[in-house]
Amino acid sequence: MIFTVAIDGPAAAGKGTISKAVAAHFGFAHLDTGLLYRAVGAKVLAGADPLTAAKTLDPTDLENDALRTPEVAQAASQVAVIAEVRSALVDFQRSFAQRIGGAVLDGRDIGTVICPAADAKLFVTASPECRAERRFKELQGKGMDVSAQQVLADVIERDKRDSERATAPLIAAADAQQIDTSDLTIDEAVNAAIAFVQSRLG
Ligand code: C5P
Repeated sequence: MIFTVAIDGPAAAGKGTISKAVAAHFGFAHLDTGLLYRAVGAKVLAGADPLTAAKTLDPTDLENDALRTPEVAQAASQVAVIAEVRSALVDFQRSFAQRIGGAVLDGRDIGTVICPAADAKLFVTASPECRAERRFKELQGKGMDVSAQQVLADVIERDKRDSERATAPLIAAADAQQIDTSDLTIDEAVNAAIAFVQSRLG
């Protein structure tokens, strides 16, 4: 069976948590496409050329905890503006989406550009303050030296760059189901997503 779930939304809206839970519930594979851009961003921070980094990306490059820092997130959103970098990452994402047994991909442009024919599309949002608070707690929990104010500024800057770029900007697909997680518990958000995907599976 081929069944693709596209989950898009801004930084720290809860896409990752929802995607993992949906994938686990239905037994689908999961790809966090933000990691592709983070891996390219990390290579650029280390001195690589963005396009070369994107073209030579290896799946093992994604298994790296160092990709979760705010610096790498910013570098990711800067390389994500480059159309050629995005193109170099398309095939990998589309073949992942087509794998037998079902796939969940989360990112910014999955429902609009990568998999416009996805079987189920979700757009997950939350207020910037709410997202920044969650990301702050997550980074603090990992022992990173960050301030709440800086995390909020980073999230707002990244959202702006992601939404205003010319190629594949962050935008909800017209046929996406929107979930605002600002006032939802994790369980409520996950259950809403699972119910929607189930309704698409029939
Ligand atoms: O999802 P995450 O916060 O890890 O993504 C890091 C950055 O990668 C985003 O801010 C965005 O610029 C870029 N990205 C993208 N398209 C995707 C996934 C991520 O442009 N599908």
